[in-house]
Amino acid sequence: MADQRIKINLDESQLPTQWYNVVPDLPSPPPPPLHPGTLQPVGPDDLAPLFPMDLILQEVTGDRFVDIPGEVLDIYKLWRPSPLYRAHRLEKALGTPARIYYKYEGVSPAGSHKPNTAVPQAYYNAKAGVRKLTTETGAGQWGTALAFASALFDLECEVWMVGASYDQKPYRRTMMETFGARVHRSPSDLTAAGRGIRAEDPQHPGSLGIAISEAVEVAGQDPQTRYALGSVLNHVLLHQTVIGEEALLQLASVDESPDVIVGCTGGGSNFGGLVFPFLREKLAGRMSPTIRAVEPASCPSLTRGVYAYDFGDTAGMTPLLKMHTLGHRFIPDPIHAGGLRYHGMSPLLSHVYELGLVEALALPQTECFAAAVRFARTEGIVPAPEPSHALAACIREAEACRESGEEKVIVTALCGHGHFDLAAYEAYLSGRMVDEEVTDERLAPGLSELPTVPAGA
Ligand SMILES: *Cc1c(COP(=O)(O)O)cnc(C)c1O
Repeated sequence: MADQRIKINLDESQLPTQWYNVVPDLPSPPPPPLHPGTLQPVGPDDLAPLFPMDLILQEVTGDRFVDIPGEVLDIYKLWRPSPLYRAHRLEKALGTPARIYYKYEGVSPAGSHKPNTAVPQAYYNAKAGVRKLTTETGAGQWGTALAFASALFDLECEVWMVGASYDQKPYRRTMMETFGARVHRSPSDLTAAGRGIRAEDPQHPGSLGIAISEAVEVAGQDPQTRYALGSVLNHVLLHQTVIGEEALLQLASVDESPDVIVGCTGGGSNFGGLVFPFLREKLAGRMSPTIRAVEPASCPSLTRGVYAYDFGDTAGMTPLLKMHTLGHRFIPDPIHAGGLRYHGMSPLLSHVYELGLVEALALPQTECFAAAVRFARTEGIVPAPEPSHALAACIREAEACRESGEEKVIVTALCGHGHFDLAAYEAYLSGRMVDEEVTDERLAPGLSELPTVPAGA
């Protein structure tokens, strides 16, 4: 009989002291990033204008575990270990024999999982003598996390915020400014990348790919400035594994082992952070959960994109990454889950998907908001629009258990709260939210503009 507790806490002394790198446990390593000019694998020196060496080394490390610095652990303790909840009331409302657990990352200072990587990124940059960090933000979660982390390490922080979100979410901007960041609407007139796009459309709603181009451009021009990315890259997923390591301990403390793990995927970091420690256990034969990524139907990089080398940004300034992509020029519809509107997917997660180790599912936003409202009314937490995708998938799974009578253990990450997303809830509750169908014709231009990379490169 499973433990009936609602909230499963860990002591501060049980906070993991190492991040987990899944790469050495995979049957093959992921393909390397390529230099867009030479098409050769990028070396540490190619990345040095953008990132401090400690992070570059974490990006390529073959070590299975990486020690978390003491200064970072001390900051993690402001909100970690985060709680794991059993969703008793949601289970009851669904009439399901399944047991649903959610790891709640909304307890962090930024209200999401993003500070798990913002803090070590700011730490390693400060240690390397960097003065300023530039970055992009979609819904504002990553910008908020980096603004918070920069404040703790006395770094300046300059954020390019996707225009559509900048217009819709003024309080996220205020929150970033409260932590001391400077925030620009992207595309902006401050960069060549932004000016080029504004020349064509002065009111362009922006995209993550465009905002990345702007932040990368500015960082590349100043030796004391570096760029920070909130998702996609290996070191980001590495830092996020504290989520899964804690969840493993929490489930073990109530004698549970997952049958199904689901998470939402924008660039793949909260998902990778939750599932990679479980994947390690699965590859070692100690458990056998089904692992499923959930993406928005409007931006379906895993389920309808191609696995190919592509740029991480719109202007084509980043190294080429082998990943599931809709094409770097693809501008997704302005759905409310701003954090899931990215044309690509983490190369590491894309590789794990290609190896058949995880499944993927794309869901329309109205089903996700219906799930989020149901969750709020039973569990008392208003979820961010992004994890509402994971909750909708949990509910599908739990309803299937109701039909089959299976007592599956379902685990997910509730990776952020939705306190700054009430305009999206208002659109849903008033019946104004729609699901735009993404036709093959809509996807075709993005998919046809991929950079050419010779086979075998
Ligand atoms: C940024 C963000 C996401 C998307 O990014 P991932 O790297 O895929 O996790 C999802 N949920 C929330 C709450 C976010 O802030």
